[in-house]
Amino acid sequence: MSDRAGDHAVVLGGSIAGLLAARVLAEAYSQVTVVDRDTLAPGSVPRRGAPQARHIHALLAGGQQVLEQLFPGFTAELVAHGAPVGDVLGDTRLVFGGHRLARAEAGLVAVSASRLLLEDRLRARVRALPGVQFAPASDVVGLRASPDRRRITGTRLLRRADGSAEEVLDADLVVDAIGRGSRAPIWLEALGFDRPDEDRMRVDVGYATRRYRLAGDTLDGDFACLHGPTPAQARGGALARLEGDTWMLTLFGFLGDHPPTDPEGFDAFARTLRLPDLHDAVRAGEPIDDPVPFRFPANVRRRYERIRHLPEGFLVMGDAVCSFNPIYGQGMTVAALQAVALRTCVENGDQHLARRFSRAAAKVADHAWKMATGADLALPDVEGARTVQVRLVNAYMDRLLDVAAHDPAVAASFIRVAGMVDPLPALLRPALAMRVLRPHGQPSGPPGPPDEPVDGQPGTTSVRTRPPRQQR
Ligand SMILES: Cc1cc2nc3c(=O)[nH]c(=O)nc-3n(C[C@H](O)[C@H](O)[C@H](O)COP(=O)(O)OP(=O)(O)OC[C@H]3O[C@@H](n4cnc5c(N)ncnc54)[C@H](O)[C@@H]3O)c2cc1C
Repeated sequence: MSDRAGDHAVVLGGSIAGLLAARVLAEAYSQVTVVDRDTLAPGSVPRRGAPQARHIHALLAGGQQVLEQLFPGFTAELVAHGAPVGDVLGDTRLVFGGHRLARAEAGLVAVSASRLLLEDRLRARVRALPGVQFAPASDVVGLRASPDRRRITGTRLLRRADGSAEEVLDADLVVDAIGRGSRAPIWLEALGFDRPDEDRMRVDVGYATRRYRLAGDTLDGDFACLHGPTPAQARGGALARLEGDTWMLTLFGFLGDHPPTDPEGFDAFARTLRLPDLHDAVRAGEPIDDPVPFRFPANVRRRYERIRHLPEGFLVMGDAVCSFNPIYGQGMTVAALQAVALRTCVENGDQHLARRFSRAAAKVADHAWKMATGADLALPDVEGARTVQVRLVNAYMDRLLDVAAHDPAVAASFIRVAGMVDPLPALLRPALAMRVLRPHGQPSGPPGPPDEPVDGQPGTTSVRTRPPRQQR
């Protein structure tokens, strides 16, 4: 037992962040208990605790890489269940800020699974780990602290069974992965600790999603198409082929301009998009169900890393720390990268674990937060501080995306950062900046050679160009 960080870790929430936390904690704790209010029955079935699962969930390349690292063969498992797989730039159509990214082989894997399948397969893998057990149908109602108030020593829960009374689950470590609705700030305050500051940016994004059966030549064989918003049109959508040859179309609009959920209104909303790909693709398709809505009011970030007296024995990750405008598809990848950070922090011992992890989790969130809020602030009606830095970065990004429309190397460099494979500063490396800022009309030349590696990453990404699918 001496090589163990502790006997018992309890993970609150059995969704993506909770499952990934359990995966890494199982290496260090003899027993890991995952508590969730849902019953978590096996199978790709919708459940109350994760209503977002009925909408498109893109797994960014950074997230795919981590899942593969934590669960070897995971991508192949999704593919065996029917999920399409291909290259992030080579097999999809991505339109950001009105610019359609150049077609290329970025060398990054895109696997197009439904969120239901992804979570089900992850849970099956975690269930199979020695020492991991689930406590389903159990509501977490609070935390328990040591008498000296230095440590969280367990969690209070109420089983969803007739006549059940509140119980305490003792733990050496409690990880809150309860999602955006986490009440940890209130629970901490009730125990005499500070609650974290909260950053918020209102976007009031409305989603509506409908599933279809579509012809085999839909999108000319590409398996996904993303159509982001522009300053002139704060609307967009995404279409993806998923397992079972089912297609999912998600439409979205900002600041109350939400897609309707009646079939005619939904179709009309799709028709208004600046590029016709999405509407053209589904026009002759066979709908499987009616559109379902989701409303996302604001980007929210809780600054646990800034709390002065953070109790030991308690960590917060995933959407409970930071939840982003879902159109950028970052949440699962942030949870995955935070799980890797958790593994490193735990390996380095128990001392100041809460402080070390809260900083590491914040660093991961920072990348996604800057990308998401920066892009949201490019839309004129979104309220927020447009600092000089934000305006400069957004002007640069607009230029970069313009160049990325015809320069595959720039497109690939962008998608590596947007996919959280490379850090944000990678977009400012000299070789890339020169390609972006060279006067219009000047030929960009072949993609290589990359400039000096920074943080082990080349400045521009070496890619193989690929003609659009129709021309192949
Ligand atoms: C509409 C929408 C679309 C999205 N699209 C994408 C995408 O394309 N790509 C992407 O990467 N991310 C996307 N996300 C984000 C993604 O869903 C989350 O980031 C991801 O699920 C990780 O969240 P989490 O595990 O921290 O929390 P959640 O997924 O919210 O899970 C929280 C869990 O805690 C449980 N729970 C809640 N309260 C209690 C309680 N009191 N007691 C016990 N259990 C409790 C719930 O049952 C649930 O299982 C999207 C989100 C939304 C809303």
